[in-house]
Order: sequence, then structure tokens, then C-alpha cells
Amino acid sequence: MKFIETRGNDGKKPVSVTFSQAILSPMSSFGGIYSPASLPALDDAFFKAHINSGYKTLAKDILQAFEVDIEPAVIDAALSLYDAFDDASNPVPVEKVYDDLYVSELYHGPTRAFKDMALQPFGKVLSAVAQARGEKYLILAATSGDTGPAALETFKNRENVQVACLYPDGGTSDVQRLQMVTEDAANLKVIGIHGDFDDAQSALKSLLVSETFGAALKAHDISLSAANSVNFGRIIFQIVYHVYSYLELVRKGVIQLGEQVYLNVPSGNFGNALGGYYAWKMGLPVKQIHIASNNNNVLTQLIKTGRYDISDKRVIPTTSPAMDILKSSNVERVLFDLYGAERTKELMLKLDAEKCYELTTAELSKLQTLFAADFCSDEEGLGYIKQAFEQADYLMCPHTATCFKAYDTCREDKSIKTIAYSTAEWTKFSPVIAKALTGETCEQDIDALEMIANKAKIKIPAQIAALFDKEIAQKTVIDKQDIEKEIMSFLNA
Ligand SMILES: *Cc1c(COP(=O)(O)O)cnc(C)c1O
Repeated sequence: MKFIETRGNDGKKPVSVTFSQAILSPMSSFGGIYSPASLPALDDAFFKAHINSGYKTLAKDILQAFEVDIEPAVIDAALSLYDAFDDASNPVPVEKVYDDLYVSELYHGPTRAFKDMALQPFGKVLSAVAQARGEKYLILAATSGDTGPAALETFKNRENVQVACLYPDGGTSDVQRLQMVTEDAANLKVIGIHGDFDDAQSALKSLLVSETFGAALKAHDISLSAANSVNFGRIIFQIVYHVYSYLELVRKGVIQLGEQVYLNVPSGNFGNALGGYYAWKMGLPVKQIHIASNNNNVLTQLIKTGRYDISDKRVIPTTSPAMDILKSSNVERVLFDLYGAERTKELMLKLDAEKCYELTTAELSKLQTLFAADFCSDEEGLGYIKQAFEQADYLMCPHTATCFKAYDTCREDKSIKTIAYSTAEWTKFSPVIAKALTGETCEQDIDALEMIANKAKIKIPAQIAALFDKEIAQKTVIDKQDIEKEIMSFLNA
């Protein structure tokens, strides 16, 4: 399968690339990204044949349908990483919360958040492709909390890949910070920055255009790659769990094969929702995808009004920080799919220049056939967390809670079942959940974890409890202007 450019071709880049090229160098002409030239169709026979498939078999067959240019042995090795999830035979459990609301739990991997679903196999694939080509790559990441731990975990000790990960010191939860700074491997460097996430991200961007940095990479024969959420190597693994969750409901007898469902996705950069969109286009019986936002409600605004307007907006810090995003990168692939490359280029350049674009009435109605959206305030989120715990004995994180608002407001047909996605374990955002359940404020994660464990009569999972006793391997915390020097000395080590 070929991948083509969302903003068209500039005459310098190839007009189409293979899967492995698209994942090694994800940026395309005019600042665009790569999208599949066409999508494989999954017909009734495919779904029937996979009703009783395990997760890995389903994933393998979906990747095969995309005809990716990756050795079968590499794909097998990448998918075998799901064996290390809590339950190897069911890495994505789907739990009933209310009669017509099922939650697909995407957080049963090593770092307890949904980034593992894609980054675990992606890390193996990228490293294997780099190794086969005899090329070395540096992955630069700036994280507000979940991507950093997942990227470090997946690339730890992998061949031909080094990772430098920037995080805002004091800007992540204790658990997220510990997950990063206790990672000990020669190919990983974790750097705390005095500043916030925007500082970390802008420092990373200035590094990308620095001439001295570029020259140093060249001298080491190292290319830059990105593990960010526009990389199609992540998106492809995010199609699988939407199909799997649907088939789980069939297996449980909740729906019949062919019956439509709503998908309900807590969204930031729109990778998770895009996976659902592709699954629908490939043939999964989906009535509509409900996009859940927090107070940074650009996606809700786009889907409700056709305007994407960030001209008067700044990021509002919320209790669901992984969704605190104004420029939602993967929306571009939906625009491309619905309106074509020329129009996508026009809209995206307008967003860069004027911080705003507007769809036509016809374009908006096309978007609204498949998507509906709503946003959930922090206050409402606390209420949903408390309600799910009290009424259904269900513990959920503040990102997942935003889905419950969209579930309340977006369903037009109440006879249709909803699959909502849970993106983080309760252990990762414990102070918010402790507050929702008890009304009390905890400064430290460890106090909140204990409070929740007591209240819910459960144990703190071993890998989280162990973090608090692990040795700190990554001690670097510096000012922004020292980042380049720090990364150079890491590369020279
Ligand atoms: C990354 C993340 C999201 C947002 O997912 P997107 O694919 O960027 O829309 C939601 N919740 C959690 C916990 C995350 O880590």
C-alpha cells in the first residue's frame, strides 16, 4: 500500500512512499503528513472469521490488509509485546459500565496509559527498519506526561535508536515523572526543563532548526525521526483495537455482528479517533463517532460549527492534561480524506497564518454525518467519576470521564450501544480521582493512591507501587538554553 501527502506534492518529495518510508520520515510536502492512498476493505467474511481471533491474529491480519512492507517476523515480534499486558489473552478488556455503555480499556500495558497500545509495537518496528537499513535515528520527544514514559519504555535498549525526552519539571504527575526518571538505559536521555510543556516543546522546535545541532547529527551519521502521534506507524495499531472492541461486544452477546455502535473517544491529537474513523471506512459497523473534549474544546467547536478557531485561545490547564491541545494534528487526515489535498492544504495554511479556518456548509454536513462532539469541564468530570464509582463500582481517569458527558449529550438513537475508550489507569491521575471520590485534596500521588485503594478496596498495582522505591537514574534538570549542549554530550557519550 502506498502513502500520499495530505497537502499535495511540491515536486521535490516523492509523490508516494511505502509504509516504512512514511514511518521513518513522517513529514511530507508543504508541512503535510502521509495518509494511505486507499484503505483496505474489511468485509463481513473478515469480521466473521475473526469473531474468535485473539488480539494478535486480528492485528496481524489488519496489517496484512494494508500490505505493509515489514518482514512478517518483525510484525510477529512487535505484536508479541502485547503478551506483556496484564492479560496476554485479552490485552484490551471491554467492561460494562451501564446497560448500553461499555468501556474499552486501553491502559493495560507497561506504562498504564493508552500510548502503549501503539508505541509498544511501533518501537519494535521502527528499530527493526532502522537496523535493516543500517541507519541510526534520534527520536526527540517533548512530553506533558504519557508519551514520554511510553516512548522510553518501548525504545529502551533497542538497536539503532536513541531517545532524548524533554519534560517540564513539576509539570507532570509524580507517577509520570517517576516512570521517566527511573528508566535506565544507555540509549535513553531524560531531561527535565525549568518551565512548562510549551517551553519544552518550543525548545525542541528550535533544536530542530539549529545548524550546529544539525551538523552534530550529521557528524554522527544520525537522522532525526519522530514518534509523535501523526506517525502512521502509530495510527495503524490504533485501528486494531476499535475492531477488537466491537468483536468483544459480539462475543459477549451484547450486539449481533453487523449491528451499529457509537464509538466515544477522549480526544487531543485525534490519533485514537482517527483509528476509529479508518475502522469505520474499512467497514466496521459504526453509526457515529462521538468526540469528547475538555475545556480546550477546539474539536467540539469544529464539529458543531465548522470553525477551527484558535486565534483568541490559549491552552487552558485541565485535570485531563493529555487532551490540553489546541492544534490537533491528526484532524488533517480526516480533512484530506473528506475534502482532498488541495482543500486540505488551503485550510491548514490558513490555520498557520490566521489561526482560523472555516468549512463550507456542505463540508460541515459531511463531517457531521460521522462525527458529533461535546466537551466536559473539570467540575463535570469529577461528577462523572463519582457517579460511575457509586453507581457501577467503576474507577476511571479524568480523560475517560469526558466521554461520559459526550455519552449523555451526543446519542441521537438511544437503542444503539456505545463503546467508550478509557485511556489511562486510575493510578496515573490519582489526586483528581481521590478528590472526586472523597472531596479531599492530596498534594502527593502516593497519598491519593492509598486513599483510592482504601475507598475502592483494591490494591495499588505492583508496577506503580514499585516506582516510589526505584532508583532515580535520570537526574538532569536544566534551563532551556542548555538543552542542545546536554543532548550533544549524550550523543557523544
Ligand atoms: C494521548 C492521550 C489522549 C488523547 O489521545 P489522542 O489520540 O491524542 O486524541 C487521551 N487520554 C490520555 C490519557 C492520553 O494519554
